Amino acid sequence: MAIHSDIIEIDGSQGEGGGQILRSCLALSIVTGKAFRLWNIRAGREKPGLMRQHLTCVQAAAAISDAQVAGASVGSREITVSPGPVRAGTYHFPIGTAGGTTLVLQAVLPALLRAEGPSTVSVEGGTHNKAAPSFEFFARALVPLLNRAGANLSVRLERYGFYPAGGGRVVLEMQPTGDARPLQLLERGARLSAHAIAMVSRLSPSIALREIEVLRDRLALTEEQARIVEVPNPIGPGNAAAVEICYEHITEVFSEVGEVGRSAEAVARAIADKARDYIASEKPVGPYLADQLMVPLAVLGGGQYATGPLTEHARTNIEIVRAFGGDISTHESGIVRVGQLPSRSASFAR
Ligand code: ATP
Repeated sequence: MAIHSDIIEIDGSQGEGGGQILRSCLALSIVTGKAFRLWNIRAGREKPGLMRQHLTCVQAAAAISDAQVAGASVGSREITVSPGPVRAGTYHFPIGTAGGTTLVLQAVLPALLRAEGPSTVSVEGGTHNKAAPSFEFFARALVPLLNRAGANLSVRLERYGFYPAGGGRVVLEMQPTGDARPLQLLERGARLSAHAIAMVSRLSPSIALREIEVLRDRLALTEEQARIVEVPNPIGPGNAAAVEICYEHITEVFSEVGEVGRSAEAVARAIADKARDYIASEKPVGPYLADQLMVPLAVLGGGQYATGPLTEHARTNIEIVRAFGGDISTHESGIVRVGQLPSRSASFAR
């Protein structure tokens, strides 16, 4: 296979050392047309190398950009990707496990933002996973901000897929981006509302009731501000809960999934703690959005946002964006400035 000599070399063990490095590399490679070699993939994790979700990200990125890929197999600790031209279109990516559907979308969304035609991307797998963006976070917190920056996205949950069974389906509809404009998000504005949701699938609704009770108590929510969803046509047993907090200029979402050995109260307390920290911080952008905004904003019109102390995910992502020629700077006041990535040159990497 012919690989471009001007290849970007990335050590996957740096910083956070997880799957996010891979997804950001894939997205930035397709957007910029620059080939990359990533080694030490997920070296910071207990089971290093590509898991099913990560492999699906690689396959999805290759499908939308006609990329040449070496090393794409489960367990692989090194891949080389040489992207071709991005093609808008209709894509379906089944992960085959409960791997995070929203994480696969993270890998392909940025490149399709700059594609000329509309795209429909459906992903099958988990919609509510541990340590991953829940569907509610993706749809209610991330997507509206990208739309404000000029994207034209709508996303729907066609089927719930809870950790550990999976089997969910998320569909992202993308119309071509209009005028990309820098996102300015330095203040939250006044607080408008807050809501809690607790979801159960093939488990007793009492689990969701107990979660709602804790969330209402800790976040001072009324009965009308909290609801329970008993999942129709459930695939497997599962539980998740989320809190949405709306301000004038931003909506943030905090979520957790239930699991065997973790009480409903513990799940709800973890969410309430995160929501309270966020409320107390007075910054518009919470810790998860802070890392997930970087790549898509660089692809849109850049921008600046205020956030709390940067997580290791955010710091690592900054390094990856810089490795692909992007420009992100941070200020001790908590402001992150994201520069717009230049357009891909007419000559692709291969
Ligand atoms: P690994 O198994 O290597 O950890 P991964 O691909 O599942 O790999 P990470 O590299 O840890 O994941 O990246 C996780 C991503 O999920 C980050 O972008 C992080 O911001 C996001 N994330 C984690 N928890 C939440 C949450 N509760 N809400 C929203 N986003 C979340």
